[in-house]
Amino acid sequence: MKTIIEPFRIKSVEYVKTTTEEERIQILKNAYYNTFRIPAEDVLIDLLTDSGTSAMSAKQWAAMMDGDESYAGARSYYKFVNAINKIFGFKHIIPVHQGRAAERIFFTNVLSVIDKDGRYRPASGKYIPSNNHFDTTRANIEFNGGSAEDLVIEEGKHPSIIHPFKGNMDTDKLKNFIEEKGTENIPVVMITVTNNTGGGQPVSMENIREVSEICKKYKLPFFIDACRFAENAYFIKTREKGYENKTILEIANEMFSYADGCTMSAKKDAFANIGGFLAMNDDKLYEECKNLLIITEGFETYGGLAGRDMDAIAQGLEEVTDESYLHYRISVMRYIGDRLLANDVPIIQPVGGHAIYIDAKEFLPDIPQEQYPAHSLVIEMYKKGGIRAVEIGSVMFGKYDEKGKLIPADMELVRLAIPRRVYTQSHMDFVIEVLQNISKNKKNICGMKIVEEPKFLRHFTAKFEPVK
Ligand SMILES: *Cc1c(COP(=O)(O)O)cnc(C)c1O
Repeated sequence: MKTIIEPFRIKSVEYVKTTTEEERIQILKNAYYNTFRIPAEDVLIDLLTDSGTSAMSAKQWAAMMDGDESYAGARSYYKFVNAINKIFGFKHIIPVHQGRAAERIFFTNVLSVIDKDGRYRPASGKYIPSNNHFDTTRANIEFNGGSAEDLVIEEGKHPSIIHPFKGNMDTDKLKNFIEEKGTENIPVVMITVTNNTGGGQPVSMENIREVSEICKKYKLPFFIDACRFAENAYFIKTREKGYENKTILEIANEMFSYADGCTMSAKKDAFANIGGFLAMNDDKLYEECKNLLIITEGFETYGGLAGRDMDAIAQGLEEVTDESYLHYRISVMRYIGDRLLANDVPIIQPVGGHAIYIDAKEFLPDIPQEQYPAHSLVIEMYKKGGIRAVEIGSVMFGKYDEKGKLIPADMELVRLAIPRRVYTQSHMDFVIEVLQNISKNKKNICGMKIVEEPKFLRHFTAKFEPVK
């Protein structure tokens, strides 16, 4: 059969509200042309993020009802640990409320220096290499005094170059980097699967193995940022020689067998609305991490989660290694990507695992970067279709020089993140049609200017106006 169908049927529905273009023009004005300020109720199709937005299965909801809310040693904790062990196989597991909590605990321990009074002090002169660090990972490294280094392969930096594993780390660069900085200044080497910041691009098994061998040679610990491990495993199965006949679980087992631990946000590939964990083999590191966990997250058998959350995650991890689900998931990305390309909407190629990235600089060449082409397209998508996407360009990453002139970002991207199991094919057809119409009338799109902005993370709260 050529037609790929959703491998589930719908048991519970959530209505979405349709608005008119006139209403949306007013909503945009009220939100100062910042889609983060729009109430979610007024969004028809919300592609802001795939994080925590998954539809849970009937089995996950049933598991939640069975959650054990005992403070210590809850049944839910053991289910959670067993489900993680089956896939990841690390000796110690620490539950946390979401991915960045795992990062904070981990980096505080591997980076900070404990002074004679037992206080944690930020490190200096320490480096943590990765393919690309995700923004919360980078922030937690920098907050603890370290430098986050991105060593993705050259192909990973160019939107239109086709490569099966654009998330790979450049292993020559890694070796040189270790030689240059010295092993004593590199507490851990990381790799993100799939590479979120680089467009959700996968990392090959060969690359994971090579990075692991380099780490062994230099006696450095190797950790994986595992948020989208199952999507990555599916890409390995379908693109890497020797893995075609392996199951997703076997591939995931092999991926993590090369590492000493991982961080994971369960809001991604575990289909949970909240949660995460930190896992590792090292006994001493585990004891140290547990101390911080108890101070800021909770006791070691719940770490800031309700028992029922751990049940939902355990069941979600069981479901995500199902190949028919992953086949459907990645096919959805390809379906949208192919149709956008056919309608002259330029995107990062090949499409990654969880989102489509439109290259707005190429799509709207008449709007200069000072007028934020990607943000302009985000606003147009909401105005024309009630679709909420997110700008990843000069609004998010732009800086100013001393004269107050914008130093634009390298790329002006609009990300359409697809929540897991939430939208049907006709929802996606609608998104494609809206973009098709925008593409035909793109001469009418006007640029945007910032009229008010905070000092940090301005994309969340800045106020804009159309440039007349
Ligand atoms: C989402 C994400 C994180 C952080 O997880 P949160 O649950 O949002 O705190 C870390 N790394 C990657 C690759 C992510 O996508």
